[in-house]
Amino acid sequence: MSVPVAKLSFWGVRGATPTVDPATWRYGGNTPCLELIAPDGTQIILDCGTGLRMLGNRLAAANGDRVSETHIFVTHYHWDHIQGIPFFAPFYADKNEFHFYSFRSKYLGRDSLKKVFETQMALPYFPVDMSAMNAKRRFQEVAGGDSFFIGENKVTTRALNHPQGCLGFRIETPAGTVVYATDNEPGNRDLDKGLRELTQGADIFINDAQYTPEQLAGPRRGWGHSSWKEGVQIAREVNAKTLVLFHHDPDSTDRMVDAILRHGREEFDSVFAASEGMVITLGAPGGRVDAHMPGTRTALRREAQFRARVSGVTEGGRPFDEETVVSDLSLQGAMISLRHSPRLQSELQVIMETPGPNGLQAAMRLRGYVVRIDAGSEKGLSAVGVVFTD
Ligand SMILES: [Zn+2]
Ligand SMILES: [Zn+2]
Repeated sequence: MSVPVAKLSFWGVRGATPTVDPATWRYGGNTPCLELIAPDGTQIILDCGTGLRMLGNRLAAANGDRVSETHIFVTHYHWDHIQGIPFFAPFYADKNEFHFYSFRSKYLGRDSLKKVFETQMALPYFPVDMSAMNAKRRFQEVAGGDSFFIGENKVTTRALNHPQGCLGFRIETPAGTVVYATDNEPGNRDLDKGLRELTQGADIFINDAQYTPEQLAGPRRGWGHSSWKEGVQIAREVNAKTLVLFHHDPDSTDRMVDAILRHGREEFDSVFAASEGMVITLGAPGGRVDAHMPGTRTALRREAQFRARVSGVTEGGRPFDEETVVSDLSLQGAMISLRHSPRLQSELQVIMETPGPNGLQAAMRLRGYVVRIDAGSEKGLSAVGVVFTD
């Protein structure tokens, strides 16, 4: 029997407004949109930010004439979570069917999300009106505390602390549990408790990390966002396995997100900063979480395997020096196989042999620090993730 596997793809990870600044290119500038394919084939889209457009193009190309049925969860109605709607090609094809889930806003009343659609596409805001959207659309209201099934996947919701409201979603699939909790500010006792209930034991916990703890303590308090520190705190309390820092501030450059990620990784074992194109596989053999960084983001990515010399110091203070291979190399980091299963001290020296011009071998010296060790994987090798500091 094959192992159930779920695939989670990040199409938009930026908060508040899209960015095209080259300094934000590596993590990406599109606003929130995620896609989860559960082991039973159920397709779920989380939020309709500008990342939705690229997902739509991919689906339209992949599906051809095939009928598709998709479930779309919208956390709330701020621009950055709905702006992709008019640009999602599959909404214009009558063969497609969409089930929408969102909450009733006190500002919009009944059929809140349906009204958002109609208003967004009302003249003169958009060149064509709703009649051009031919796909079947069903709207379902959900409230914090609700629980329901889609296929064999259990969905649970909780209200989050955000101006005009927001919903967090927990999706339990046979391959693992994903919690999507963005646009949330800590500090409301009941809602903080609700978020912890929602996140209990999650395999992947995607959390709002828009601000640094310092920013959150300043004038941005009350704007409805969180920091990496709160994510780490919750992940520890509820035994979440992997934390994904999400909803990066539009003014945070890649370097700033790198720093936020580094802080998170100093305090929790498995942390990623969401980046556009990142794909996480759940339920792969051995129960590990696999995250693949986007190749399209980084022209420098090398899919081939490179021989490398890796040296560092184990946690016990013992130096080591090993010949090995580096795979999945990108600007953000790499996966390196090591024979060392013990924990390593944080700094690690990697000298990589890369094919230079005319087939010559060139050595590249990289400094990084260890982010994750999958001890006990096959053949006595441990996969070590490193993030390059320079
Ligand atoms: Zn937002
Ligand atoms: Zn918001």
